Amino acid sequence: MSATHSYIMPTYSPQPISFTRGQGSWLYTADNTAYLDALTGIAVCGLGHCHPSVTEAIQDQAATLVHTSNLFHIEWQQKAAHSLCTAAGMVSVFFANSGAEANEAALKMARLYGYKKGFKKPKVIVMEKSFHGRTLLTVSATANPKAREGFFTLDSDFIRVPFGDIEAIKLAALENNEITAVFLEPIQGEGGLNTAKDGFNYLEQVQDLCNQQDWLFMLDEVQTGNGRTGKYFAYQHSNAKPDVLTTAKGLGNGFPIGACMVSGRARDLLQVGSHGSTYGGTPLGSRVVHTVYDILTNTDIMQNAVTEGNHIQHTLSHDLKDYGVTTRGHGMMIGVVLPESTDCSNLVDKARDEEKLIINITGSHVIRLLPPLNLKREETDQLIEKLTRLIKSALS
Ligand SMILES: *Cc1c(COP(=O)(O)O)cnc(C)c1O
Repeated sequence: MSATHSYIMPTYSPQPISFTRGQGSWLYTADNTAYLDALTGIAVCGLGHCHPSVTEAIQDQAATLVHTSNLFHIEWQQKAAHSLCTAAGMVSVFFANSGAEANEAALKMARLYGYKKGFKKPKVIVMEKSFHGRTLLTVSATANPKAREGFFTLDSDFIRVPFGDIEAIKLAALENNEITAVFLEPIQGEGGLNTAKDGFNYLEQVQDLCNQQDWLFMLDEVQTGNGRTGKYFAYQHSNAKPDVLTTAKGLGNGFPIGACMVSGRARDLLQVGSHGSTYGGTPLGSRVVHTVYDILTNTDIMQNAVTEGNHIQHTLSHDLKDYGVTTRGHGMMIGVVLPESTDCSNLVDKARDEEKLIINITGSHVIRLLPPLNLKREETDQLIEKLTRLIKSALS
């Protein structure tokens, strides 16, 4: 399985396992061993692996028309845009192919907003522990020093403040007069499954300040979007409303596509010729987006994410209280917080090999759970059982 030489650049260190098939909440190896997937390809396959409607949409569209380019009207793109903007409460969308690209569009808009105001050096406020992608501009907005090292990141474009601290943003406003936007994740995914101390009220505080200062209020919902937290978009847990909203991961349930939506102060920023993408919003990708929208809006799947997510959090925090374990998050975006001193280095391997359970660790001692939104109760109970055994054995 692990070849001595690989022609893949060593940017990843993959686990020594390969899956050949996926169905619903389960991944299968070639010898047909089943693994319960509480990661879903990093919050991507929210509807479960190979959801029959998504598979059918891909198969049918692949046999009809895959790509024409944006030099032509694309009916599925119009449909997908309508449905996505309806779900998000936004005015229009630019389709890209990934989260980073969606965020790149957002950050370019923040610059354009400053340009229109005659700014010399527009700056965007971003958060500590943020993750926004790997293109040069998005990695510059990202906090993690390991992701930034050696790339001459555009540090002077950004002002970094602690997540959840509205006073820190107010202070930055006093010290800088060319700020154009605040850009943040409603719940930080890669940075440790962090929620703001004021919960989603924090988003309203940030928006109020953006309104006062005439800044763009920009949300990165690449991970939190598409039902992951139990609402179509996480900001909909609040009364806030972004000017710019990006999403990707769950948008195509595994088909690579991203979206950058605008409203309010950002609605007319990008015009003909100012941005583009050869692959953005192909007939195939757009039809998948529309299909995912249909499923999310016409089933009880987001309600299920809330019910099962709450069940996971309540049960784990109750049963593991004596071990110093707490939980946080919303819907099917859950952090199981182990005591800070816990050695988590072999937890992912142990979960996989001993429990046949796929998990992920973030922020050094937080188990990140991103199960399918439509996890069935008996699967939820299996997940809880496997995790409880794993954590008890790690902490005793
Ligand atoms: C994953 C992620 C990205 C980057 O998405 P890619 O598709 O890997 O480019 C950006 N922002 C957030 C919040 C993410 O979780």
